[in-house]
Amino acid sequence: MDGKKRTTGRMMVFRDITSRKNHEALLQDTNKKLREQLTEIRTLRDQLHEQATRDPLTNLFNRRYLEEKLSQELARALRENYPVCVIMMDIDRFKRVNDTCGHKTGDEVLQALSTLIVLHIRHFDAACRYGGEEFVIVMPKLSIETARERAEFLRREFSNMSMPCSEKETNPTLSIGLAAFPFDGMNGEQLLDAADQALYAAKGSGRNRVVVYSELEDNRETSGHKA
Ligand code: GH3
Ligand code: MG
Ligand code: MG
Repeated sequence: MDGKKRTTGRMMVFRDITSRKNHEALLQDTNKKLREQLTEIRTLRDQLHEQATRDPLTNLFNRRYLEEKLSQELARALRENYPVCVIMMDIDRFKRVNDTCGHKTGDEVLQALSTLIVLHIRHFDAACRYGGEEFVIVMPKLSIETARERAEFLRREFSNMSMPCSEKETNPTLSIGLAAFPFDGMNGEQLLDAADQALYAAKGSGRNRVVVYSELEDNRETSGHKA
């Protein structure tokens, strides 16, 4: 402007911001890719966790996860002073189901039992496929008598279920062993061993029945794992 504040000329300043814009675009693009990668990593991590903890046929927990979970549960039960019951079950003469009706039908029977278990346990119980046709349920805060009723219920329901090839085969049944923390075992291994012994006794005394470890011990008059 001149002395009288009249415009006498103009000056314009131009700055080339192409490179800044390009950088911003690149940054946005990189951020977007990172976010996508993060989502993918999370999905993969969840899938991996699922694969590491679940049995693919039944979608129940696998044995390794169950053993981990059981020892955590027992530590908590000890601190908070409540019992934990362990139900171990094995399908009777399951080999015959496979031999008569085929392996695929055998798989369907395993899935049917898993569904039955999942439908009838509480959300804080943990059910796992412990072996081929062997299942374990960990039930915290439950008396042995109530656990026995639950086990009896599952045994009865399973024997009454309509099975994929029941016309060729009598319905498969369950033998069940029951043990309780802290009475029958002070750690996961002892407890599973006690439940296994009760299951073995159920098999030995005719199958299709529930046997409670403490009663078994009383019969034998031995102290076993009793605390
Ligand atoms: P018991 O009454 O003494 O328990 O007799 P069992 O025939 O059930 O016991 P055994 O241990 O002799 O047989 C278990 C069978 O379970 C043998 C095996 O082929 C079958 N099995 C294990 N895993 C699977 C599976 O994933 N699918 C199918 N279809 N069968 C399986
Ligand atoms: Mg069996
Ligand atoms: Mg078995």
